[in-house]
Amino acid sequence: MPIVRFTRQRQAVLEAVKNSREHPDAARVFEAVRHVVPNISLGTVYRSLEALADDGHLLKLQQPGRPTRYDANLDGHHHLVCDSCGEVYDVTLAEMPDLRGLVQHVVPGFEVREQRVEFHGFCSRCQKN
Ligand SMILES: [Zn+2]
Ligand SMILES: [Zn+2]
Repeated sequence: MPIVRFTRQRQAVLEAVKNSREHPDAARVFEAVRHVVPNISLGTVYRSLEALADDGHLLKLQQPGRPTRYDANLDGHHHLVCDSCGEVYDVTLAEMPDLRGLVQHVVPGFEVREQRVEFHGFCSRCQKN
């Protein structure tokens, strides 16, 4: 990863996502970062998140009709997405097949740059309601 000199604001935004296990959206990151950088704006948080995602420091989770969420966990893992409340849970399998390698092998002419595996359903909390 290239050495990037972060602004204090961008560093605080990255830390806020890293400290969260819940794949926060920009509004939740803003709430956390405000305590560290009191004069930061939601717009700055949003732009910092986008820049950090562009630079490969964060993963972006886009769901139709919901705000984009960000993930600082770059280790290979999959996501469980609750279609009712929108919560995103990490799932790491003991055996993680190298899907990317397999796909690249089958379609060598395509340059795979990222992969996403998402499982959709209802979390245990929403099943009770
Ligand atoms: Zn749910
Ligand atoms: Zn995740």
